Amino acid sequence: MPARLSAHKRGNSGFASGFYLVSIHCPVAGEDRCPPAQAARALFDQNVIWDPHAGFGPDPGVDLSKLQVWKDAGVNYLSVDVGYDVMDWRDTIKSLAAFRRWILAADGYRLVGSVAEIREAKKAGDLAVTFDLEGMNALDGSLDLVEMYHHLGVRQMLFAYNRNNAAGGGCHDEDTGLTDFGRAVIAEMYRVGMLVDCSHTAYTTTMEAMEASTAPCIFSHSNPRALWDHERNIWDDQARACAATSGVVGIVGIGIFMGENDTRTTTLADNIDHYVNLLGPEHVGIGLDYALQDEFAAEGDDSEDLAGLSDMNPEY
Ligand SMILES: [Zn+2]
Repeated sequence: MPARLSAHKRGNSGFASGFYLVSIHCPVAGEDRCPPAQAARALFDQNVIWDPHAGFGPDPGVDLSKLQVWKDAGVNYLSVDVGYDVMDWRDTIKSLAAFRRWILAADGYRLVGSVAEIREAKKAGDLAVTFDLEGMNALDGSLDLVEMYHHLGVRQMLFAYNRNNAAGGGCHDEDTGLTDFGRAVIAEMYRVGMLVDCSHTAYTTTMEAMEASTAPCIFSHSNPRALWDHERNIWDDQARACAATSGVVGIVGIGIFMGENDTRTTTLADNIDHYVNLLGPEHVGIGLDYALQDEFAAEGDDSEDLAGLSDMNPEY
């Protein structure tokens, strides 16, 4: 959630280039060291709190009133998944249309299109929302659809969802590299103002994409493979390449990416620590990828609760 892009961005102004690392000042007069609760409060007050990926099942029937959980947690800006590669691209359009309609009609939520609008939403106490696409099958081979999705509120797109597609390699498939189409999509994403997201994507495609990028790239929800060797996790050189673009790696809270379905809060903290030590805190965020269901009561954050959240997301 406290994912902030460094001020030292490269190249043109990508959508997320307005997020800056803000130093935290102790709110207690005369104190050099802050009590943790006050330091945390100051962190929330002084920054845009961004969760870069909520893993709602991208279905028009999803009850988006669950977004209240993110508001209650202090999140200011959330990216909601509206499609992934296993869906027909036309069904992605239907989910996107339904989610847009709900957010535009609901009090306390704003569909935003710029960093300035995110800041305005925070001031008003509203949750700013944009959308993400997990895989470029949503383009159905057409570069023109990038700008259309942008107009409809999409601000992040992954190359692939686990399996290879026309843009590049998926993390559970043959490591084929970035295609000419994938390269052209990157250029178009930067032209319209979208974040290039490398989660779920194969090693070579991520490295070639970050090399080709002229603005910050992110891994919205990917954990260190150095701690748990799962194909959905990423190697340290991928994380370093992301930081070199002035990007952020978001830690995911799904148990199978942290161990044998390990959902302990301490393990989540170990994953954060790994990237803080490797990259510096300005390049580390949290993209939990939790999808809340009716049967889950969102109370507290102990291991049982995390396990409940994790089990409800079948993603691998
Ligand atoms: Zn995902």
